[in-house]
Amino acid sequence: MQRVFSGIQPSGIPTLGNYLGAIRNWVALQADHDCLYCVVDLHAITTWQDPAVLRQQTREMAATIIACGIDPETHILFHQSGVPAHARLAWIFNCVARIGWLNRMTQFKDKAGKDREAASAGLYVYPNLMAADIHAYHATRVPVGDDQKQHLELANDIAQKFNHDYGVEFFPQIQPLIMPEAARVMSLRDGTKKMSKSDPSDQSRINMSDDSETIAAKVKRARTDAEPLPSEVAGLEGRAEARNLVGIYAALSGRSQTEVLTQFGGQGFASFKNDLADLMVEKLGPIAAETRRLLAEPDHIDRILFAGAARAEAIAGPIVAEAERLVGFLQRP
Ligand code: ATP
Ligand code: MG
Repeated sequence: MQRVFSGIQPSGIPTLGNYLGAIRNWVALQADHDCLYCVVDLHAITTWQDPAVLRQQTREMAATIIACGIDPETHILFHQSGVPAHARLAWIFNCVARIGWLNRMTQFKDKAGKDREAASAGLYVYPNLMAADIHAYHATRVPVGDDQKQHLELANDIAQKFNHDYGVEFFPQIQPLIMPEAARVMSLRDGTKKMSKSDPSDQSRINMSDDSETIAAKVKRARTDAEPLPSEVAGLEGRAEARNLVGIYAALSGRSQTEVLTQFGGQGFASFKNDLADLMVEKLGPIAAETRRLLAEPDHIDRILFAGAARAEAIAGPIVAEAERLVGFLQRP
């Protein structure tokens, strides 16, 4: 069976974008893959996190992932800091990746903002750690949203250079699994920006924990243009906000955008938004309720994560030890 690895940062409350672009696909992959899903707390501290909040968000992320349908018994769910192999391999990859490669990463430019000199060094080498996350397990399938495509290409470049530099075929190439519909959910306030859990504006996103009133209010206030909805997909061209809402409706309802526009084309946004909010509440409400139930027992969540970390370390430890041997580090006698 192919091994799948994917991660999510506990840098906020998971959003509808994380759900449609990543977690929902993680659930589906469990049927015919060996899956490792990781709450990547090392990645989260590349930007400042309050320690108490980070702990809470790590548990909340794990609870949401389980509530969405990940089975931590059959598959492996863990927190990144629980498996030292990630940081060990990341250091080697820091020495394999070239500065020129990192300079091309658009996420660094987006996240560092205007004052790049003030960004953490960790944020800059983030893609090397992400490559280590995946290669530490020799995983070949990585389900992510469209925004991570560039990082996965870099992870493949790193594998290739490592293999070349040390004259081995050790790290395999990775295949990104980007599900086309809703691979990129956009901000509700700006159709050209992706929805992010770390966006300062709570109005820009639907959180997986939002109650029905909050969802209805956010959808109602979501930015749109003044035209009615088009009857065909081609009519969404140049209308980023309309395209985003139609895309979300299609992804949540399991229908094509064409079908959605056959129903709503020609109508104004008001009634479409009502239906969209109802659909969100129907799909996300049960997940939020289950997440709350799990969060009532934080110790139980910690036990699941540490048990997952022990199983993950058993896979990654020997692979990273072999990488260290190939590099020329001493082996324990
Ligand atoms: P942050 O703002 O802290 O970077 P994020 O919302 O971008 O948070 P990540 O933890 O960086 O979330 O990414 C987790 C997964 O969710 C990745 O697979 C990523 O591709 C996916 N993802 C993130 N945002 C979106 C989005 N708007 N649409 C689709 N997929 C997304
Ligand atoms: Mg992100």
